[in-house]
Amino acid sequence: MCKVMFADAHLHSNPLKGLGIRNISKKFKDLGGWFLAIVSLPPAHYGLNPVFENYVKSVDILVSECKAAKEGGLTVKCLAGIHPADLEKLINTQALKYDEALNLAFKVLEYISSLIKKGVLDGIGEVGRPHYKTSPEGFIINEIILRHSLRLTNDLDAIIHLHIEQGGLLTVMDLNEVLNYMSIRKNSVLLHHLDIRTGLEASNSGLTFTICGKLQLIREAAKKLSPTYMVESDFIDDPKRLGVASWPWEIIENQQVILREGIIDEEYLSRLNIDNVVKYYRVDPP
Ligand SMILES: [Zn+2]
Ligand SMILES: [Zn+2]
Repeated sequence: MCKVMFADAHLHSNPLKGLGIRNISKKFKDLGGWFLAIVSLPPAHYGLNPVFENYVKSVDILVSECKAAKEGGLTVKCLAGIHPADLEKLINTQALKYDEALNLAFKVLEYISSLIKKGVLDGIGEVGRPHYKTSPEGFIINEIILRHSLRLTNDLDAIIHLHIEQGGLLTVMDLNEVLNYMSIRKNSVLLHHLDIRTGLEASNSGLTFTICGKLQLIREAAKKLSPTYMVESDFIDDPKRLGVASWPWEIIENQQVILREGIIDEEYLSRLNIDNVVKYYRVDPP
């Protein structure tokens, strides 16, 4: 019987269309979970069009989900942002003018920052760059918002989750340069959902990152990476898109599988699920 308690370092919940955090946290806790970092979903996931008021609604839904998870007895961190895919679509699909899209994003981030100041939110996430091929404009608008968000969280002493392309050495080299130029404290920045190649580079340069807890992926991670990372489900809680990432309780089961296989020991799991979580999220251990 594994005595380690488990954390999900990045997931989403959708109380309108999916299970919602009450159901998720109950099952997660029953299986030995103690910590969740809950990240906002774009308005489209709630059937809302992408205007400022609906971003506010999405953030408010997130805030009440975080509250519910805390009431369910879990330690929780709560992050809201404007997803790179969402931002790219604003100019490419919704055909917003560049300044309209930027101003919308700035306004959303201003609202999020005001909630961070009040202690309602803990950080910005996710922002970053698309992981798929997009127009140069779809890429650069995200770059601008990425840098703006880094500045905001650094000034607020808050955390930030970056969603980025899986460019291995290139991604990590670029981000390191950006963080250095901008004098951003690295320990507040988390690169989420990395592949093993990019994770290795991040690990070598001391950046914080997560690996998705799908069985194949964490089996490979356990073999190739020292225990410097955290595990996430990146669950999007959308019954129509099951299997896009993994279930939060599935990442617990998968880690227990590789423990039984003897690839890692409890000490390794405890680093991923407790030490690294306590350090990055600045929370008390369970
Ligand atoms: Zn992401
Ligand atoms: Zn995500």
